[in-house]
Amino acid sequence: MNEYDSNRIKDFTKKIGYLSTTKIDEANCFVLNTCHIREKATEKVYHEVGRVKKKFRNKEKPIVLIVGCVAQAEGDLLLMREKYIDAVIGPQSYHNINDIILAIESKKKIKLNYTEFDVINKFDEINLNKNTDSKVSTFLSIQEGCDKFCKFCVVPYTRGPEYSRSLDEILKEAKQQVDNGSKEIILLGQNVNAYKYNNKRLSDLLFALEKISGLQRIRYTTSHPKDLTQDLIEAHGDCKKLMPILHLPVQSGSSRMLKLMNRNHTIEEYLKLIEKLKIKKPTMKFSSDFIIAYPGETDKDFEKTVQLMKEVKFINSYSFIFSPRPGTPAATLKEIDGLIAKKRLAYFQNTSNDVKSEYRNQLVNTIVNVLFENKVKDENKYFGRDEHFNSVIVESNTKLSGEIKEVKINNCNQNTLFGEVVSASKKVKVEYAA
Ligand code: SAM
Ligand code: SF4
Repeated sequence: MNEYDSNRIKDFTKKIGYLSTTKIDEANCFVLNTCHIREKATEKVYHEVGRVKKKFRNKEKPIVLIVGCVAQAEGDLLLMREKYIDAVIGPQSYHNINDIILAIESKKKIKLNYTEFDVINKFDEINLNKNTDSKVSTFLSIQEGCDKFCKFCVVPYTRGPEYSRSLDEILKEAKQQVDNGSKEIILLGQNVNAYKYNNKRLSDLLFALEKISGLQRIRYTTSHPKDLTQDLIEAHGDCKKLMPILHLPVQSGSSRMLKLMNRNHTIEEYLKLIEKLKIKKPTMKFSSDFIIAYPGETDKDFEKTVQLMKEVKFINSYSFIFSPRPGTPAATLKEIDGLIAKKRLAYFQNTSNDVKSEYRNQLVNTIVNVLFENKVKDENKYFGRDEHFNSVIVESNTKLSGEIKEVKINNCNQNTLFGEVVSASKKVKVEYAA
């Protein structure tokens, strides 16, 4: 979501003559878009500002703006501790960025902290600005905020309450992205499947997007199991452009832990959803997020998480030790001993790597459909993703970006599949052999 926000900030600031640069020395304005989901976020901000300070020691001071969830959660502290920062702007207030920059440029006295939950005005402004992102696979924000209040999570406090954009606005922006050259759209939301605008749900939006000619693939992330309604499950079978993978964070394999976390569902209910999706779409695969060593987690609870990994065979997983976030209910709970937490994380990650390796090795010598995104820098190779979002690299002398090709997988490592584009004649052979 921060990547989407950063692109929109670029589109806004173009209007007042600011362009992005990869050369840090020539920048005269730094916009640091931040994430607050786990620890050390604030420290990273001080570190980055320190880098800028050092670069510009004997030069004119550039404008320095801190945007995003760290600005929202710790804006006053940042302004107090680091005078080099000109203003802090929360994730629902960045549509004000041009006024803020212009005021700083003209040395007007302005307020320094912009952290109102002004989400309606933000999207009104976003709708007035053409989305210029032309990446083959591009993000589109459709829902923001969260009303679920899991005990460990800062999102309800940093992004505010759930808000869904109108279906028409989303379709208009999606068409702009496809006109720019995008072939795949990844719909974004903190709880994207909580999307609800008037009586329209995420499934309605998926079917409406499917009608955009030129758009080849649709994905959405991140979903909450509680909002995975029957209509959405049906859409996985019926919406042809919707890819057969779902990122469905579970956090723990123990229903007791899920209750302590305030997740509002049991493991049995979670497994039932997986089963229903697989019936609707047999090629369906899953990825997930896990919090290891949440306060109160026993060895038995942890074993259940390991068991769940083995049972569902998640093809990708993101696991972190619980990180107490200031202001959340879990922040005051007694933490699990650090050594035990580290051991559990290592064990869990080994298990998930084994599951992943087994899956990836099974892909060797099979054919997958890859949407190619870009050329690998300085090499005659192209990078793309298959339907299950696996990274694929092939060698090619002809341009592949933006094309969907059948690729035979020859090799793999933990992060990438390596293969070759199947030519028409070869294709017959492989099919015959199979
Ligand atoms: N809304 C999604 C859901 O409920 O499943 C998840 C969105 S959250 C922004 C992304 C992930 O960050 C979560 O799934 C969780 O695993 C992780 N996370 C959030 N707070 C955390 C914390 N305090 N410590 C460790 N991981 C955390
Ligand atoms: Fe955070 Fe997701 Fe829980 Fe909302 S549902 S509080 S975003 S983990």
